[in-house]
Amino acid sequence: MFERINNVIGNLFGIGIIIAMFVLAILAFKAMFRNIKRKFKPNANNLMHCESCKCVISADAFMCPHCGQHYGRSRAGNSIFYCLLAGCGFLLGAFYGLQLFFEDEEVLFFIRTYFN
Ligand SMILES: [Zn+2]
Repeated sequence: MFERINNVIGNLFGIGIIIAMFVLAILAFKAMFRNIKRKFKPNANNLMHCESCKCVISADAFMCPHCGQHYGRSRAGNSIFYCLLAGCGFLLGAFYGLQLFFEDEEVLFFIRTYFN
């Protein structure tokens, strides 16, 4: 009996993790598309102050046009890459979780019992 309850809780926990993975993947892809839009359509609200000369520059600037302060690679470009990576990672995790979930004998038994 306890084992059964444990299994149900375990399965619910598994479903929760899989759903969370899917949600995180969707959020990562959404952030990626937002960054892509931002990269190709720089908008005036996307500004920041240069760390060394305090001039207003684009937040995606590779370097400050006033004093030459470097900001590494383009932030938007970086975050597009990381968002894609995170999105794919979470998506893979979710599918892997789904696969494990449906290989579980208990779950198969449950599905056969209640959905037939
Ligand atoms: Zn500057």
